[in-house]
Amino acid sequence: MDNHLIMSIQHPVHKASFILLLIAVFFDLTHLATPRITQANEPQESVIGTSTEGRPINAIRFGDGKRKLVVVGDTHGGAEANTYTLTLQLIDYFNTNTEQIPASVSLYFIPTLNPDGLELGWRFNANGVDLNRNMNTNIDECSENDWRVRVYGAYGTESDTGGPYAESEAESRVIRDFLLDASGAIFLHSAAGLVFPAFCEHTPSIEMAQVYAEAADYTYERYWDAYFITGGMHDWAGSLGIAAITPELISGTESEFEQNLAGLLAVLANDTQLLPLPEDQEEANIEIPALIWRYWQAHGGADLFGAPLAPAEQDGAITRQVFERAILEHRPNQAGTPRMVQPLPLGREVLAGREFATVEPTPDARFFPETGHTIRESFQSFWEQHSGEYLFGAPLSEEHEEWTADGQRRIVQYFEHAVFAYYPEDDSVQLEPLGWQRLIHTEFEQTTAVQQIR
Ligand SMILES: [Zn+2]
Repeated sequence: MDNHLIMSIQHPVHKASFILLLIAVFFDLTHLATPRITQANEPQESVIGTSTEGRPINAIRFGDGKRKLVVVGDTHGGAEANTYTLTLQLIDYFNTNTEQIPASVSLYFIPTLNPDGLELGWRFNANGVDLNRNMNTNIDECSENDWRVRVYGAYGTESDTGGPYAESEAESRVIRDFLLDASGAIFLHSAAGLVFPAFCEHTPSIEMAQVYAEAADYTYERYWDAYFITGGMHDWAGSLGIAAITPELISGTESEFEQNLAGLLAVLANDTQLLPLPEDQEEANIEIPALIWRYWQAHGGADLFGAPLAPAEQDGAITRQVFERAILEHRPNQAGTPRMVQPLPLGREVLAGREFATVEPTPDARFFPETGHTIRESFQSFWEQHSGEYLFGAPLSEEHEEWTADGQRRIVQYFEHAVFAYYPEDDSVQLEPLGWQRLIHTEFEQTTAVQQIR
């Protein structure tokens, strides 16, 4: 009876659409077409980054709840292509079963994080780096899983496939940036037939691995004990408070769809317990809002940006916090991009209109046509190792000597968001304390203003 009712309602609609289509074809009135209304339960596909060889890395989203759960397929390319197939099958399933996703969840699928490896038919990315050994796991509490170049593999093998430095690879940076606001991450691998959580203690990760394993009928293992995984994605994610697990399919060829669907549905059914929202943290007795903290921590914490100097401030939807060497800003409208959290352009600000003569490109330096400046040697490696295009921006000067905030003559260079200073004492590069300077300056102006009123 219901079917009859639906058909009788739909029939005239179809007829009308057909007539409109005819009109559109005849008179090319395509601009009159009604805008397509996107419903919350329709999947949204987006390109979240590009691989080393320029292939797109896609994410498909279902639902728009505040708990972001990301299923990452095929980190290990052609060698684990069955996890790619599995992810596509899961997407197909949720296309027609969207109602099984709780309202509090946004469910994302990344069919392959390693499209180059999938194309090349091997485990690594196009640079020969193992992406699941390339994350910066030095930021967590335990040392056994710290990132390193030389990594362990099955059957006692060792190889130099960890990458030249942590998060050196385009794909690693894509997943790092995309997961920054995630509650949970499921990294699909094959073929060992078990599920394990982040190595360091993290209760939501452990519970998620147990729930997934039981529902999928895989073995739960607290630790992957065949060898130490260094620079692994699950460990990196767990250290930021993201519930993170690695299901290893039993087979290297089958997708084991029913089992993994059961595992995923069990996680979704326990969303509030297994998918914790990102939490605010305290550093140096000052509260840091959750996503600013994750960004700060993921990029080197106090070593790079220094400690927070004041509580965060709200400016409309934007949250801003002053650190010793940067002011970090969270912009919710940039969610899902590498610019969701970013430093303010304090480098440009301290220049106060001062301009440096531009230079011509040279073979020994990286040239930025947009500003006409170059970076080289230790400043260049520092810039590249810290995702400079997002953290520091383009150079606004060449290297030169100046007085720095610690009262020394040092080699410095100005960038959009920072000023680099070279410390020969320990051969290091540090950011000048521009956040601290801005804070002092603001307080001075406010004090002066108050005195003038008196
Ligand atoms: Zn794998």
